[in-house]
Amino acid sequence: MAKKFACGDVVDGCAWSTTAKDENELFEQISEHAKNVHNMTDIPDEVIQKVKSKIQEV
Ligand SMILES: [Zn+2]
Repeated sequence: MAKKFACGDVVDGCAWSTTAKDENELFEQISEHAKNVHNMTDIPDEVIQKVKSKIQEV
């Protein structure tokens, strides 16, 4: 089952979303996006928990 994440569920107004084959790959894409677009070089634990709670299976 693939995983899907929409950034707008955590960051208001962000239209980016992504899908990946598993959670590890998904988090790689999310950290890349967070770094490039949201200037988050380290993602705080709190944000990771939030992201995890919003991941959907597709
Ligand atoms: Zn975003």
